[in-house]
Amino acid sequence: MSPFTGGNRVDVGGVAVSTDHYIGGQRVASPTTFEDRSPLDWSVKLADVSRGDAHTADLAVQAAAAAFPEWAAMGVKGRGDVMRRVADLIDEHVPSLAAVECLDMAMLEESLRLRVLSRGARNFRAYADLAEQYDERVWSSNGTANRVMRMPAGPTVVITPWNAPFMLSTWKCAPALAAGNTVILKPAEWSPLSCSLLADLCHEAGMPPGVFNVVQGIGEEVGAALVADPRLTRISFTGSPDTAKHIGRAAAENIVPFTAELGGKGPFVVFADSDLEAAAKKAAGQYDDSGQVCLAGTRLLVEASVRDEFLELFHRFADAHVLGDSREAGTTISPMIHPEHVTRVAGFVDRARANGDTILRGGQRSPLGGDDGLWYEPTLIEPRNNDSEVVQHEIFGPVLTFQTFTDEADAVRLANSTAYGLSAIVYTGSQSRAERMGRAVRAGTVWTNCFLVRDLTAPFGGCGISGIGREGGDYALDFYSDLKMFQVLENTTE
Ligand code: NAD
Repeated sequence: MSPFTGGNRVDVGGVAVSTDHYIGGQRVASPTTFEDRSPLDWSVKLADVSRGDAHTADLAVQAAAAAFPEWAAMGVKGRGDVMRRVADLIDEHVPSLAAVECLDMAMLEESLRLRVLSRGARNFRAYADLAEQYDERVWSSNGTANRVMRMPAGPTVVITPWNAPFMLSTWKCAPALAAGNTVILKPAEWSPLSCSLLADLCHEAGMPPGVFNVVQGIGEEVGAALVADPRLTRISFTGSPDTAKHIGRAAAENIVPFTAELGGKGPFVVFADSDLEAAAKKAAGQYDDSGQVCLAGTRLLVEASVRDEFLELFHRFADAHVLGDSREAGTTISPMIHPEHVTRVAGFVDRARANGDTILRGGQRSPLGGDDGLWYEPTLIEPRNNDSEVVQHEIFGPVLTFQTFTDEADAVRLANSTAYGLSAIVYTGSQSRAERMGRAVRAGTVWTNCFLVRDLTAPFGGCGISGIGREGGDYALDFYSDLKMFQVLENTTE
């Protein structure tokens, strides 16, 4: 039997998706709803989704608080068994999840099926394993054994953005659950549906009621009510720096630790000694999914001596992109998430033009889909100077900037010249230069001659306005736990 049953359901791509919240192991509907449309065809309404409010937030926190003692007491092994069942169910239902998320968020269906959603399963499996492997850290000093142990913290709110909603939510929920916390997930209102399916899979896996909850709704309404609740013990947020400020204030009010994985404006640095073709291909590949990727290296910084050669290669790869329906094989550029977002992205380009920046390619909406179409041409802008808005602010669309540098010191200066610090990409043929750049660039992650290669146990997060704290591996498990120092006298007979 399909796990996608119960409550109010709508057919989305052949999958019955619940439009309700999932609280205390049950589907719960709100009296009011919000509309969810498909970026693939904005005239298509996918669902009227329950619009949570302060009452919904209260119910969800109550359910998570009530479920916490039992889940915490199950220990890492008991929790791990449930989490591995969730992972298996995710793997089993990848086609359904992909069909729904593609319609809801418009990410390329092929990458959802082949890569992105299985990462959700890996998140559940990896954290179940990692929590079990935790060695209590013990050392002796002054006749005492000093033992460090992790205690589950308690009810945790996870708030996620609209891009890659399923994978990004599992990235945060899995370590929280493995650590013994109970979770309330609030997905973004622009792509709420695949996270509703995650609730079904947790239910099917036998997760006790109240351990995992999903609350739907608008950030400023139910999101704000959730993060203000004093019963919370952790808040984990991924989204924009502006929203992080609101959440940080709420967290401070109740002295609740929070992590924030925020926006990026990564440098993509190309030295003359690098494999220019590989660099240009990777750089132009960042237009995939309309560039709605926080980790993208959206500022191309290219050594001046290879400017023309690089640009020629870059245009060749950029020309090969295919704007289209994300469900079709061969499409590489999906529509953007929402008309408001298209307007926002177009505004950056229009202001750049007015500022005297040079549009090297693109710079306008695509005619695809007519007036309602949400595609934007892959765009490259050479700014008048480094202060241009398009260099200094995250655009989160298919818009890259192009600048040249004179030498390594100049490359470092430009790379580190924004308030962000999430990721950086460096292409060079010199190992020693790669080492120097890796140390000099201020970013949570620096990739050399590659992009988006990740080990789930590595720390992940941003410097500057790109975030607070680190997730990934033990860093995440430590965040979701209360670390306890447990001292025992050594050599006592009692
Ligand atoms: P957003 O900040 O607008 O919204 C994120 C989430 O916060 C949504 O669920 C929203 O409903 C909720 N929210 C909004 N106001 C709230 C409030 N006052 N209280 C509580 N919750 C509230 O971000 P977005 O537009 O959904 O996502 C795009 C941003 O996310 C970009 O900046 C992107 O770089 C960033 N992002 C970062 C990472 C990362 O790992 N660093 C990953 C993906 C996206």
